Amino acid sequence: MGKVLIIGAGGVGTVVAHKVAQNPDVFTEIMIASRTKSKCDAVVKAIGNPNIRTAQVDADNVDELAALFNDFKPGIVINVALPYQDLTIMEACLKTGVNYLDTANYEPKDVAHFEYSWQWAYKQRFEEAGLTAILGCGFDPGVSGVYTAYAAKHHFDEIQYLDIVDCNAGNHHKAFATNFNPEINIREITQNGRYYENGQWVTTQPLEIHKDLTYPNIGPRDSYLLYHEELESLVKNFPTIKRARFWMTFGQEYLTHLRVIQDIGMARIDPIDYQGMKIVPLQFLKAVLPNPQDLGENYEGETSIGCRIRGLKDGKEHTYYIYNNCSHQAAYKETGMQGVSYTTGVPAMIGAMMFLKGLWKRPGVWNVEEFDPDPFMEQLNKQGLPWHEVFDGDLEL
Ligand code: NDP
Repeated sequence: MGKVLIIGAGGVGTVVAHKVAQNPDVFTEIMIASRTKSKCDAVVKAIGNPNIRTAQVDADNVDELAALFNDFKPGIVINVALPYQDLTIMEACLKTGVNYLDTANYEPKDVAHFEYSWQWAYKQRFEEAGLTAILGCGFDPGVSGVYTAYAAKHHFDEIQYLDIVDCNAGNHHKAFATNFNPEINIREITQNGRYYENGQWVTTQPLEIHKDLTYPNIGPRDSYLLYHEELESLVKNFPTIKRARFWMTFGQEYLTHLRVIQDIGMARIDPIDYQGMKIVPLQFLKAVLPNPQDLGENYEGETSIGCRIRGLKDGKEHTYYIYNNCSHQAAYKETGMQGVSYTTGVPAMIGAMMFLKGLWKRPGVWNVEEFDPDPFMEQLNKQGLPWHEVFDGDLEL
């Protein structure tokens, strides 16, 4: 059906490459391009399909990207590099007439600030070019938005309360490691918390609000209120929402390490002078932390991510919980990567599949919940992320 170009050969890029290769009826030609070509070649070797092309590209450079797009002529680009590259890749797509999909909203390198405004500003240009851009198509953001759209379509007249709950109950047997790019991960977690209530955004101190939530097949885990980017688009696209929050579990050991990292200045994102060089402490820290791509082999346990929703159907209040549990070991056996990369890469592949099948093809810039959730939900069950529903249970929230 179409050619796909994957940009980024990290944990998520590796899973995307495996999954597109498993669906050759949709993805007829595949290329993986990244800053380090040898990493792309290693992914291709692991998949064992010599027809997958690889290339070196600096995704901060629009002209380099445009030259690559003109050479390969992809139908869609799956951007699983870093959020810093979103805008340059979108620019290159506009220059060369290529459609776009990503899993994380643009962040400037010098401020850890999460909002869609920079990417939503491209809406008119994508519309005029007749191109589709699909934003935030990982698990959260991504499946969290599709779950919400599915609940709104099938189970509620009015969604009023939305809590996205993200539990990683896995154990990688390292003293401290992050499950995806450490720089992006630590920037996200050390921010102030924020949630939406009655038309206003309420700001909290970082990790100030927390409570035990019970996760299926896992049990109770301390869950912390964080700001997460999909809250912004979901309250806009579902205006009946009175309150929207995002919760993520952290163990005490992880939080102690994080506090020390911050206290000693290693989470700083401003450049400092070191022996005549400028270095960013958080980028240096990334270089010495375990690589998230290497965590899979000894990773036990599972992730559990879902949406807990309360709202009205036929004038009556109902609750609804929809979730997926993903085993780190099963993900590793299939793709060589742990569950967090897997739960992000599979939905990115499905989003591109939705586009190439013409089901999610609409000129402009869109968040996932603005498309029909049904064909995407069907694929989640087929592609390794089956979902489960609980009707009128206790949401604990
Ligand atoms: P990694 O750091 O493992 O991989 C990032 C890849 O991008 C690396 O291969 C890196 O190259 C490449 N890259 C970085 N900068 C450039 C550049 N300028 N030009 C070309 N390639 C570049 O990250 P992850 O795989 O863990 O995460 C990928 C993305 O997925 C991130 O944006 C992250 O925020 C997002 N994500 C989304 C989630 C969701 O549920 N929505 C959850 C988890 C992650 P090199 O190898 O040379 O460093």
